[in-house]
Amino acid sequence: MRILFLLLTMLAALLGPQKLRAAQPERLFPETGWRVRGRLLEYWSANGALPVFGLPLGPERLERTPEGQLTAQQFERERLELHPGQAGPYDVQLGRLGDELLRKQRRDWRAEGRGEQMAGPCRRFEVTDRQVCGPFLGYWQAAGLELGDAGVSERESLALFGLPLTAPRYETNSSGDRVLTQWFERARFEWHPDKPAPFQVLLGRLGAELLGEQPALPDVALRAVPAAVVQGHTTRIVVTVAGAKVVRGSLGAAPLAFFADQDPTWVALGGVPVLTPAGNLPLRIEADLPDGRTVVHEAPLRVVDAGYRTENINLPQSVRDMLERNKEAIAAERKLVNAIWPQVSPERLWSGRFILPAQGRFTSTFGTNRSYNGGPVDSFHEGLDIANATGTPVVAPARGRVVLAEPDLLVRGGAVILDHGQGVHTGFWHLSAVLVKPGELVEQGQLIGRIGAKGMVTGPHLHWDVRIGMVNVQPQEWLDRAWP
Ligand SMILES: [Zn+2]
Repeated sequence: MRILFLLLTMLAALLGPQKLRAAQPERLFPETGWRVRGRLLEYWSANGALPVFGLPLGPERLERTPEGQLTAQQFERERLELHPGQAGPYDVQLGRLGDELLRKQRRDWRAEGRGEQMAGPCRRFEVTDRQVCGPFLGYWQAAGLELGDAGVSERESLALFGLPLTAPRYETNSSGDRVLTQWFERARFEWHPDKPAPFQVLLGRLGAELLGEQPALPDVALRAVPAAVVQGHTTRIVVTVAGAKVVRGSLGAAPLAFFADQDPTWVALGGVPVLTPAGNLPLRIEADLPDGRTVVHEAPLRVVDAGYRTENINLPQSVRDMLERNKEAIAAERKLVNAIWPQVSPERLWSGRFILPAQGRFTSTFGTNRSYNGGPVDSFHEGLDIANATGTPVVAPARGRVVLAEPDLLVRGGAVILDHGQGVHTGFWHLSAVLVKPGELVEQGQLIGRIGAKGMVTGPHLHWDVRIGMVNVQPQEWLDRAWP
């Protein structure tokens, strides 16, 4: 049964919505909402990045060209094309956007005259019968693709900008300014003598001009209730974004599981880990739009000190020896349990407040910080302990599905975990009897086990955990009010 269950959980992890993407390096540019991946990202970063190529303006996509299909991605100033048949660095090539844009404007550069003369040294290019002079020549020579030459060689500059096509002349740019302008195969240089160095020569946004303006990214409204969260407590995170297909997010290091509420609103529950320092905890939201763009929104959550006590626990040598002897079994048990918490079943099975799973005396409250044998405070009491006689009934605090039912774990003894849906789980340890089976759906108040003293304990009690993803949250708060 246990092996079957493990296989099922592994399968669910593989097929589930939370599966990891392939480990291809990827960067999301929040300014435009597009991602750049793999070889194109590597190329973009290695050859001048933002000032040279600008931001991505579309997805990586297949384009038909006279030479066949190729993968290309459009940027503000360039189009990057993948040619996997070529050896690096020629496996990525730049589109001839200057030439394309001139043709789109029906300008025949060959028929154009000599234009203005720029002061300074000149370099003549026979192939197009044009020269580049002064500050434009300085800029052309100073930048290039990295082909492995020392410094910036002429072939490297040529690979980046291409040959001059027009002579410099006054043109009105997209901002409405009349500036001295020279077109190259892959670039357009503009001369702004009134600006400070190094902004006197600016590159035209040819890719953006070819594509036209994109619709603005929609606004994201983000609200956490409560907005200031006490260490170890729960918050409801509400996101409103028009037209989103999927909303993802993270609170600190923990992923958030968002579910569509009333359109266009999405809701997730977030837990603030007990050991989070008071102050700001990063809250980040990503919303995927139908056109392939992603909107990013970040706003920190304020974390308030809970004033948890710290207890120093001195483990006698005999106990430390016992723990050391069972190190591997303890780690295997932790792995078994920790594989369950991050799983997210989309359907919310509970509604309203939780009820107390057992009657008894609260002997150890949630959140107490712990230091062992004078070591650092790196753990805390993860749940609520309810002490009562062995055999006292333990009931489901809310509707849920049994995802773990183990009669006798080394540390936790008789153990049950319920999956309530949307990333919320509850755990019950040290049971003398486990009365449910994995896969079973249990109703609020249904008997699931009996209090015991199994596992590593000093007396009979129920240890009750409430988790949102991997994060332990204070159980009392789930009795006092209805989430989400
Ligand atoms: Zn406990």
